Amino acid sequence: MNKTAIFPGSFDPITMGHFDIINRALCLFDNIVVGVGVNSAKQSLYSLERRMDWIGKVFEHEPKVSVETYEGLTVDFCNKIGAKFILRGLRTSADFEYERVIAQMNRSMYGEIETVFILSAPELLAVNSTIVREIIKNGGEASKFVPAGIDLSLD
Ligand code: ADP
Repeated sequence: MNKTAIFPGSFDPITMGHFDIINRALCLFDNIVVGVGVNSAKQSLYSLERRMDWIGKVFEHEPKVSVETYEGLTVDFCNKIGAKFILRGLRTSADFEYERVIAQMNRSMYGEIETVFILSAPELLAVNSTIVREIIKNGGEASKFVPAGIDLSLD
């Protein structure tokens, strides 16, 4: 069986935290599809196109990783592309409680889809897209929190 996982998020922008989880999950799956969710109620800092371009560039030499966009439920996107796994990172116990409810709800909708969790590397625990966006909006230097080669300049 081909093991495909979806790694869902908004990746506004992709951070070293996301990058680490994807790299560490590579040995578990045949393919990882980074699913950039479109949430019309959420105003993003960077365009969908730039967010997807960055992910494509960061993983251009890793054939197991691809990037796609989707709208709606992650489980519906899984079914659409034949993915049986959802990959998530866990930073804190708050993440765990939040993720537990979603994973259990997803499983009660589609019992064949499993959510797989990887614990954050301790040094990346504090890195999250919201704080990275705040640094950028306030003119700070955020490049060390994102993978190399990403131009964070605002349009
Ligand atoms: P966004 O892309 O908007 O930050 P999420 O916060 O949902 O979306 O992140 C997508 C996934 O990446 C989640 O599973 C989240 O737990 C994980 N993640 C984000 N930052 C880190 C980090 N620093 N360490 C480990 N996992 C992380």
